[in-house]
Amino acid sequence: MECPECKGKLDGGGNSYACKSCGVEWQVDFSCEICHGKPEMESHCGAVTFFCQSCRKLKSRESMDKTFTRKA
Ligand SMILES: [Zn+2]
Ligand SMILES: [Zn+2]
Repeated sequence: MECPECKGKLDGGGNSYACKSCGVEWQVDFSCEICHGKPEMESHCGAVTFFCQSCRKLKSRESMDKTFTRKA
């Protein structure tokens, strides 16, 4: 994912990401780009996956709609 501030590379997992270039920390809220529902976040052995219950599909972070909120 890209940093909305500087287009740098974001690093992190779940809903929490930090930009390596500008150092800004973001909370990212994901929603399904098909049904606009909120996908369920599941954690498997440290890897986080997103599953949309309505579409019954695993979602990729790149394809979903994202809302970035800068952390205080
Ligand atoms: Zn940045
Ligand atoms: Zn969906």
